Amino acid sequence: MRQPVLLAGAGIGGLAAALACARVGVPVQLFERSPTLAEMGAGIQLGPNVTRLLEGWGLQTALQAVAAYPENLLIRSAESGTLLGRLRLGEQALVRYGAPYATVHRADLQALLLQAVQACGSAQLQLGQAITGFDQDAARACLHHADGHQTQGALLVGADGLSSRVRQQLLGDGPPQPTRHLAYRALLPQAALPAALRCQDVVVWLGVGLHVVQYPVRGGDWLNVVALVESRFEDSKTGDRSGWDHAATGADLLRELEGETPELLALLQAMDGWRLWHLQIRQTISSAAQMAQGRVALLGDAAHPMLPYLAQGAGMAIEDAQALGQALAQGGATPAALAHYAQARWQRNARVQRRALRNGRIFHASGPTRWGRDLAMRALGERLLDMPWLYGGP
Ligand SMILES: Cc1cc2nc3c(=O)[nH]c(=O)nc-3n(C[C@H](O)[C@H](O)[C@H](O)COP(=O)(O)OP(=O)(O)OC[C@H]3O[C@@H](n4cnc5c(N)ncnc54)[C@H](O)[C@@H]3O)c2cc1C
Repeated sequence: MRQPVLLAGAGIGGLAAALACARVGVPVQLFERSPTLAEMGAGIQLGPNVTRLLEGWGLQTALQAVAAYPENLLIRSAESGTLLGRLRLGEQALVRYGAPYATVHRADLQALLLQAVQACGSAQLQLGQAITGFDQDAARACLHHADGHQTQGALLVGADGLSSRVRQQLLGDGPPQPTRHLAYRALLPQAALPAALRCQDVVVWLGVGLHVVQYPVRGGDWLNVVALVESRFEDSKTGDRSGWDHAATGADLLRELEGETPELLALLQAMDGWRLWHLQIRQTISSAAQMAQGRVALLGDAAHPMLPYLAQGAGMAIEDAQALGQALAQGGATPAALAHYAQARWQRNARVQRRALRNGRIFHASGPTRWGRDLAMRALGERLLDMPWLYGGP
């Protein structure tokens, strides 16, 4: 029997990695600490660089059954509502990149990945299995579970997210750092919204120190809204930042956005069930050794968490998964294959992390920078908004 590849964490990254490995005939054991797989109620954007991979894994039909395919990305001023720029998606993304720009509910994406993992037969998922650490030697990697037992495998891949235990032991670089950035998220059936607020495009509203993104999910039947705010209020910066998800009230959000255009405020008021995330961050990845050492590697947010200002965190996890599968197909389940995987991925991940940070500064700009941004967007339009280096794939 070949030793399996061990995967810690069954988020989008872990599931994608399990699928990519299983597809090239590598047996996988996947350990998830949660007793059930339940993604939170929020949307996710998938650029053509990501949908191309999902389609290559045979998931086109499953994706089409749950995704929305917006025709446009519209940039608007949160203050005046003015249209600042437009990037055609829809058919145009297909023509340019050979794959669509999609928006999905996270639970739908997770479910379709899980179904594919289960269908392929060579990946085993164990829920309620928190891992606490690992050890490795020349012949194998060994995963330590919270209940004291251990599992041996050929390799270990930590896909255990922002506060990764695997990363903590591999790199020892401490916990992620809090930021002043808050993400408020809400989802609602479009039918529950006044007709004027229903929307099938991606719309990004830019304000000073904030932006709001809305897009359809679930075949266009639901609207996802996320408001990203550099909090102006001292009391928003306190409290427990270590958890992911905090109940939030729409009133807090409206306080943050006071004075913005009535159209945007009407949308935020109409949405219900806001949830709050305190965003955390790590230093940008700076070498292949930060993604793999010996028989242990990191993948997704465990390796390169980023602020969500390029909408590519899960996308990079899925690209990592594809690269991991390719490396193992070529080099077997060996340290050399992991080194190859890390080498193939770290620079692109670093670029996306840096670009997400830069986008945050540009999106939230004030004064002359903001004025220059709006002017450039009007003058250059799609040439500024399109990102062939990203959407074209690695
Ligand atoms: C507001 C917001 C909007 C976003 N929008 C987008 C977007 O539009 N497009 C996009 O591509 N990305 C987006 N992202 C980023 C994206 O959500 C993440 O990059 C992605 O979910 C990372 O996936 P992951 O599997 O690496 O980590 P996670 O999703 O964090 O999964 C890690 C898994 O590991 C498990 N785990 C943790 N510790 C242990 C342990 N000790 N033992 C066992 N299991 C463990 C966890 O329970 C979890 O299931 C957004 C993020 C935010 C916050």
